[in-house]
Amino acid sequence: MTPGRPVIEDAAILVEGGIIREVGTYGDLAPAHSGQVIDLGDAFIAPGLVNAHSHLELAHLRGLCPSGQGFVTWVEDLLRQPIFNLDPAAFEDAAQELKRTGTCLVGDIATRFAKEMAGALEASGLFFVVFCEAIGETIPKKTFIPSGEFEAGVISVAGHSLYTTHVDVLRAAKAETRAKGLPFSLHLAEHDDETAIMAGEPSAFLDLLQARGRLLDFTPPKKRPVEQAAALGLLDEATLCVHCVKVTDADIGTVRASGATVCLCPRSNEYIGVGRAPWEKWVASGAPVCLGTDSLASNTDLDLWNEAAYFKEHFNGELPLDGLLAMMTRVPAGIMGAGHILGTLEPGKVAAFARVPDRVMALF
Ligand SMILES: [Zn+2]
Repeated sequence: MTPGRPVIEDAAILVEGGIIREVGTYGDLAPAHSGQVIDLGDAFIAPGLVNAHSHLELAHLRGLCPSGQGFVTWVEDLLRQPIFNLDPAAFEDAAQELKRTGTCLVGDIATRFAKEMAGALEASGLFFVVFCEAIGETIPKKTFIPSGEFEAGVISVAGHSLYTTHVDVLRAAKAETRAKGLPFSLHLAEHDDETAIMAGEPSAFLDLLQARGRLLDFTPPKKRPVEQAAALGLLDEATLCVHCVKVTDADIGTVRASGATVCLCPRSNEYIGVGRAPWEKWVASGAPVCLGTDSLASNTDLDLWNEAAYFKEHFNGELPLDGLLAMMTRVPAGIMGAGHILGTLEPGKVAAFARVPDRVMALF
């Protein structure tokens, strides 16, 4: 994953105190090494994976939400679930699944329990960015977000979406993350109702929101979602745009020019039935692209290798292994602010590895 460096055959990684000291061939490194040797056999080793978008608060909803019936049905059902009942056992299962399947860092959205989720993630041994989600009309008066260096993780802020978070709240949230040098996340252009709401067209989802007392004074910007995000100043190198399904070529150009990173959640989009993002155009655009599983309310599991395999199997055209791995390692580590410790296997970085499963290797 280090740009310009080839795959190393018969590789060895020298680790001391959990930090990578040297990377090279076994033949080169073995003679000067006197410590323990762990032979992984015939394995293809990648940096520890980064799941750029999850909602671990919803871990207890695994298998409980309907699939394939569109966004409005999915949300209506989700709102009938006990979404704010934190379930430590379900969280623990999810954290174990992430670790078992090679993930070492998650970008997790917390709608209500950011501090609790950060604590639980730190205790689990996963690195994290917990995005405290801004939703609704009220600008949070007080922040608990510390600025500072990424160690085990950080708490930052996300906007829920252009249609559920007031424009002033979105601007304030972005301004706060910008001032503190933190990543900002936003669900963007996920489904057709979002496009309709922005355009001021009829939308079953807007009806649902207004029936719940939301968006009663909402003024449609008469822009496409990406245009509106850009107009609000939300797009820059520190923004993670999640989903990006309903986009035009011009939208792709706008995101690309802004420097923002795109997080595709292919299986979540399929599960909910919102359609498929123009993956090939995103990859070809040169915009940084990464992968996320999204929540267990819209995916069967949190195994990022399953996300990668699904993406590769349904991708039209060339997608080399190093390109796919970059979407799960170097690119998301960078946008999470963890590129100095994770994302590649280089001296000085954390010794977090993932073994590429045979079923993924077989796709190349
Ligand atoms: Zn999400």
